[in-house]
Amino acid sequence: MSIKIEECVICDNALTEYDETAKRFLDLPEDINVKRCRQCGLRWLYPMMSVEEYSELYKLSYFDEIPQDYEKVVVQRLRHYRERIKKILKYFNNRKIRLLDVGAATGEFVNEARKTGIDATGIEPSLKACQRAKERYGIDLIQGDFLVLDINERFDVIHMHHVFEHFLEPGKCLERVRDLLNDNGLFVLEVPNQFDNIYMDLRILKRKPFSVYSIHHPYFYNPNAITTLLIRYGFEVENLKTWKSYLKGKSRRIPGSEYFFHYIVLFLADLLLKRGLFIEVYATKNGRRKK
Ligand SMILES: [Zn+2]
Repeated sequence: MSIKIEECVICDNALTEYDETAKRFLDLPEDINVKRCRQCGLRWLYPMMSVEEYSELYKLSYFDEIPQDYEKVVVQRLRHYRERIKKILKYFNNRKIRLLDVGAATGEFVNEARKTGIDATGIEPSLKACQRAKERYGIDLIQGDFLVLDINERFDVIHMHHVFEHFLEPGKCLERVRDLLNDNGLFVLEVPNQFDNIYMDLRILKRKPFSVYSIHHPYFYNPNAITTLLIRYGFEVENLKTWKSYLKGKSRRIPGSEYFFHYIVLFLADLLLKRGLFIEVYATKNGRRKK
């Protein structure tokens, strides 16, 4: 934990404060804090790991021991992925498109996209996850680091599902996305709305015991921060939602179930306040980088 970021990387200002609630929620060790920008609301770990420390952390944990509930999470995500793929196709009027999934994990999104005729490929740093994608779907993901890999082609869509919040250098990541997108390209991403959501407001979320996963996200975005950041790097935000939409199907079928309560709370929180649990953004590559 060696890097101390004093100024907000989005607003370049030093109007920051410690967020004790976020620190308690993540159950961080004494010497790690959460800082928050008072202008855009971006939060980050303070101090933050260096690139070297971070890659060591990944070698130690993540996909080398695929979490037990991972399969359950994947099944939940499939419905969500299918809805998203439909939206992407609609955006391009169903024409043939080339898509890159960054942080492709075990290949589910690439597989679903290919089923619809999209020319999809993925990048994934974990060798274990790549092997699993091959075994399961016959997909050859590109193994490596998105920021340094040699990629000699352009894409119509770049997709990141719960990946962007893992980048230590968000600006560098967005520059890479811009470089790899075609001129009319679309950047589709989802990140957690980890602290500025209705569940935190209502104190419904349970505090997490500290684990390595507590420090896997160096940055914590909210709708305002992610929008400001994307605009700064020349993107235009077409659509932003904070609704955990894959709960929708279940709630419709079983009104009165535990899902129904969550459905209503999240629906209203997104609609009125943009305070759902996740942030899903569709942004187009447009204009020039603003400094
Ligand atoms: Zn800021």
